Amino acid sequence: MADQIETLRKLQVIDTELFRLRAEQRQKPLALEQAKQRVTEEQAKGQALDARVKALQMQQKEKELELSTREGNVKKFQLQLFQVKTNKEYAAIQQEIAQAKADISLAEEGILAVLEAIDLAMKQHKAQFAAVAKQQDAYRAEEAVVAKELAVVQAQLADYERQRGELLPLILPTALSTYERVLANRDGLALVPLIQDSCGGCHMVQPPQVVNEVRLNAKLVMCQSCSRILCLQDGA
Ligand SMILES: [Zn+2]
Repeated sequence: MADQIETLRKLQVIDTELFRLRAEQRQKPLALEQAKQRVTEEQAKGQALDARVKALQMQQKEKELELSTREGNVKKFQLQLFQVKTNKEYAAIQQEIAQAKADISLAEEGILAVLEAIDLAMKQHKAQFAAVAKQQDAYRAEEAVVAKELAVVQAQLADYERQRGELLPLILPTALSTYERVLANRDGLALVPLIQDSCGGCHMVQPPQVVNEVRLNAKLVMCQSCSRILCLQDGA
């Protein structure tokens, strides 16, 4: 059994690497997903600014229409001035003209304010274009890095899988099935050393009988708490 445990120890070293590499294989594309998300967010901001520019341009048209209507009103009142018969009527129309002229200067101020807002929104829109391009560059760079790293992980996985395949025929089927079951249930850690009479996996202190059985090295001994297979520390 001692050689079985020794082989399982080698297998665990390989499986720890395999477990770590498979986790990397899952994690790396997620980081890429976040970079892609940042591109989408910047694009959405760009679209919002584009919509703002269009809405402001619409406001500009409305205000210009309003202005030309008011200018038309002033001309109309000025023509009426020639037809009035009384001073009272004349004064009333003069009053209308003054009011219409005040409205015109308000409308003109309004148009200037909208033009300034359009100018600002267009500048922001242009800056946003640059922000999108920057995030797209970052995404492409990250994509290239991740592809390279994944290729390395893939090669390492293949190498460890090959080493694993070489060890498997050396292990008894019953020992292997116990090991594989614990490996699957305990996050890739099936065989742990006893460290000062405690389980190297869950740190629970083991009863003296269990410690003795591990030292005898005559059978697979499981931790009473986490069910991992216990072995002696290297050189113990
Ligand atoms: Zn344990």
